[in-house]
Amino acid sequence: MNTEPTCLFCKIVAGQIPADLVHTDEHVVVFKDINPKAPIHLLVVPREHIENLFTIENQHDQLMAHLMKLLPILAKKMGLDGFRTIINTGKSGGQEVFHLHVHLLGGWNTSPQLF
Ligand code: ADP
Repeated sequence: MNTEPTCLFCKIVAGQIPADLVHTDEHVVVFKDINPKAPIHLLVVPREHIENLFTIENQHDQLMAHLMKLLPILAKKMGLDGFRTIINTGKSGGQEVFHLHVHLLGGWNTSPQLF
């Protein structure tokens, strides 16, 4: 499995940097965002170092299916009856940490302002 020693999220996956873990399994590590933009803000991070959606390959099919199907399970675990997901891709797409991750946000009392 591809890992990148200087990558922040690889270090969290490896347990070298602490994080508030919510879920771990063979494919992903899920933890609370350190700077939450919503009452509930999780980051769903593949164990493998994949830069972003531009570098997804066929070998990642199982991982990506697992990741997407995990989102509603995580939302329910956090007590949410609705949630929003964001995947920032590339610098011009707002990506700051170049290790693929899905933002899972929710817990607002009213519908969020979308864009
Ligand atoms: P953006 O900051 O524009 O959302 P990304 O999509 O790359 O860019 O998201 C990176 C996310 O990682 C940010 O929401 C940031 O708060 C979060 N983050 C950075 N460092 C940590 C950390 N040590 N633990 C948890 N979350 C972190």
